[in-house]
Amino acid sequence: MTKSGSSRLWRKSAAVVLVILYCANGPRAAGVSAVYRRTTPMVVDVSSPENVRLEVKVEGKPTAVTLMLASSGIEVLMRDDGNLADKVAGDGVYTVIVAVRDILHNFTPDDVYRNFIGYVRPYVGKERVGQWNVFFDILTDDVPPVQIRRVAHDIQCTKHLVNIVFPQFFEDFLRSAVCGRFYEEFDDDYDFINLIYEVSYFQNRFHANIRNDVTGIGMTVFDGSASYGSDGRLMGITVFPIPGFFDGAGPSYQHELGHQWINWLIVPPLDYAIPHWPLSDLASGIMGWAMGLGGQGLHFNFDLVPDDGDYLLVPDYKAKDFTDLALYLIGLIGRDEVGEHFVFDDQDQSPSAGILHGPVTTVRIDDIISQAGPRVPDYTISQKVFNVATIIISKERFVSADTMRLYDYFSARAAGREIVPYSSGFAKGMAKPFYLSTRRMGQLDVRIKGPEKICDFVQDSHIDLRDVLFMADRWLDRCRTPDWCDGADIDHSRTVDSQDFASCAEYYGF
Ligand SMILES: [Zn+2]
Repeated sequence: MTKSGSSRLWRKSAAVVLVILYCANGPRAAGVSAVYRRTTPMVVDVSSPENVRLEVKVEGKPTAVTLMLASSGIEVLMRDDGNLADKVAGDGVYTVIVAVRDILHNFTPDDVYRNFIGYVRPYVGKERVGQWNVFFDILTDDVPPVQIRRVAHDIQCTKHLVNIVFPQFFEDFLRSAVCGRFYEEFDDDYDFINLIYEVSYFQNRFHANIRNDVTGIGMTVFDGSASYGSDGRLMGITVFPIPGFFDGAGPSYQHELGHQWINWLIVPPLDYAIPHWPLSDLASGIMGWAMGLGGQGLHFNFDLVPDDGDYLLVPDYKAKDFTDLALYLIGLIGRDEVGEHFVFDDQDQSPSAGILHGPVTTVRIDDIISQAGPRVPDYTISQKVFNVATIIISKERFVSADTMRLYDYFSARAAGREIVPYSSGFAKGMAKPFYLSTRRMGQLDVRIKGPEKICDFVQDSHIDLRDVLFMADRWLDRCRTPDWCDGADIDHSRTVDSQDFASCAEYYGF
């Protein structure tokens, strides 16, 4: 496909879920809108909690901006006068300090490390002209500790997370530039990259298709990986402008990943709401549905019960899966395993009525294949394990150790094999990570590859007993530049000690 053709598809794929929660009264009422939000520190550690500076950049001319605290119901004024916590007067960045008791109020395990703090409310005179939800990230002892490794002056990483300091990104939002910097330090080992913003922008998350070599799914074959610094491996990028919505186990993460293959079928009536499904029995799957072409992806938490030509909607909040048709398009099952589906002829009706009216049009896999062609490669030889790198982009300096720890955890959850609690804004429930939502046929490997190589002393591509013995042979030796005890003094502390051992222990069996 031509470059322009693929970028047209990228724009189409800029689709999203649930962000409507962030702008209950509309994001631009009275010309006032929120641009970004920043919390310092970004993650609050419950074992040593501290007050948080909350900054919200507001565009327009509000006469006041408040934070309505969920803990007390009190509205506190946010300042833009350069006094107290506010850094610069009149720059549209409104600031308030949020106290620990307000941050931890009603915080429970089913919040999954994200607590609702309250609403930011802009006013013009006495009229409230917007409302934006605020959740804070909270770290507890239940989150596994991580080893943080300095890769370069502007890059640090853990086992499942990379942090790149890239101030320019928050000026031009050039994803390719950040990825290019990533590939200067890491090998071309990844099928997907997640980009998380440190500063939370009030924008929809989306998946950008970078490369496609699959036919029969409605998307043209093209390869734009070179402009991101990958030599033909990178397939797609998912962008999370709101870090608080990033969770590898959650359905939204998988929804965006799913856009790599779904839904690009130019096969009526499935083409009504590309890249989502139309109102249909497919809507309850992870890919959701939309009200028309390019529309925002919406959840459909219902079972459809036939009722004399119509369908009654019975609420169903069970953990979501990919539908059989989605699994076929991803390349995980064969055509014979895809059942019949149906699409409502009237796409202008709303599920909120509790009933959807027929008639419906039946869609069979044979109809799809006759128009789009068979999926090539088919499920017998298709790729089923995908490597994912997750990068958090920070604006001025490295994110904190607490932030690395919490986001490493949320990144690692994508490779989980158990159903887990999750939260996303006000939505809470159970979530199946990719392995389970794909009927144990797909896998995500979210490990950051490369840093472990410094622990592969015997260079056999495995971190195992031979490497431990190599380190033991040099235990407590005096080390100096340039070889640092044949590399065993990893932190260049001039001796091989428990710090070096700990650095490699997490990669044992890698
Ligand atoms: Zn979507």
